[in-house]
Amino acid sequence: MIPYAKQSISEDDIEAVVDVLRSDWLTQGPAIERFERAVADYCGVEYAVAVNSGTSALHVACVALNLGPGDVLWTSPNTFVASANCARYCGASVDFVDVNPRTYNLSVDALAAKLEVAERNGTLPKVVVPVHFAGQSCEMQAIRELADRYAFRILEDASHAIGGRYLDRPSGSCAYSDVAVFSFHPVKIITTGEGGMALTNDSELAKRMARLRTHGITRDSSLMTKESEGAWFYQQIELGSNYRMTDVQAALGISQMTRLDAFIQRRREVVNNYNEAFAELPVVVPWQHPDTESAWHLYVIRLRLDQINRSRRDVFDHLRAAGIGVNVHYIPVHTQPYYRNLGFAAGDFPEAERHYRDSITLPIFPALRENQQTQVVAVLEEMLS
Ligand SMILES: *Cc1c(COP(=O)(O)O)cnc(C)c1O
Repeated sequence: MIPYAKQSISEDDIEAVVDVLRSDWLTQGPAIERFERAVADYCGVEYAVAVNSGTSALHVACVALNLGPGDVLWTSPNTFVASANCARYCGASVDFVDVNPRTYNLSVDALAAKLEVAERNGTLPKVVVPVHFAGQSCEMQAIRELADRYAFRILEDASHAIGGRYLDRPSGSCAYSDVAVFSFHPVKIITTGEGGMALTNDSELAKRMARLRTHGITRDSSLMTKESEGAWFYQQIELGSNYRMTDVQAALGISQMTRLDAFIQRRREVVNNYNEAFAELPVVVPWQHPDTESAWHLYVIRLRLDQINRSRRDVFDHLRAAGIGVNVHYIPVHTQPYYRNLGFAAGDFPEAERHYRDSITLPIFPALRENQQTQVVAVLEEMLS
């Protein structure tokens, strides 16, 4: 089976991990800071806090942004459930903003309209989470302008987007946001096995997120309620978690970072081949906003179901049967039973639901071989022409 996504592990990656295993530190050692520095420098952002998953990064970011009971977080329904769940961990509620029919990212027009209504009703969000779907940045400048007008904080879910760009800056620069998070799960652009990172230009947010990943404990005397009782002394000043990344993971991450640009380059080639091959087929290939350069985590096509005699299910099953590990991104979050129980219903966000009904995610990863891609194209062509 050709998977839809796959990590690329080199001999150098393996050596980097083995080096840590032979060292004195398996966790909370020197590799963490080096990895944080490597990612921060690449993204042109001041601070980076490595954690054990993208989900944890979203959680510490929400707590650091003071999201709590009585507050509301808005995000896109076309995302992985974690983008919304982070609010629920904090006791806050969630609402969604439908997607743009071309980018499948949170629609700026829908956001502006919903904010206008929310201002009248006194239900403005405290945090908005734009998700850079498939690796293409949201329209951050416009979202920033709305944030300034309506006083909400911006938490970018950039889980798909490391290596991508927006208006001449790398995704994750936080030029238009308070915090941006990455995921390093193996299907993502670079991997640490499991892992994530929260980036910010705000030193207070960075300190707080670092504290929250380790139980809310501090050794900073300026934050303590009394004088240190000795070199062993620490204080827990709020409730945090154990969200630490290990040095083993960080070493893998550092090594992966050296190939990030090559990964993106190779993903772009795969995209260009698909786009060219599908020009005459009844499918919509991913449209790109001129302000963005996608990291191409996913390659999602939409079937023109009115022009073909097959259902999406039929096309999907046929591809799987032919050994092609296609997938679907995403089941709209508001239609999940957990969110239905909170009051959402099918029909609430029609653009995201339409996207879900006719889209298929095709294999894309740096090690996808030319003959494998030719096979994907051939099976689709045979079915759709
Ligand atoms: C993968 C992903 C996450 C969660 O990342 P983990 O590292 O798996 O916790 C969050 N949001 C989006 C959009 C993702 O794709």
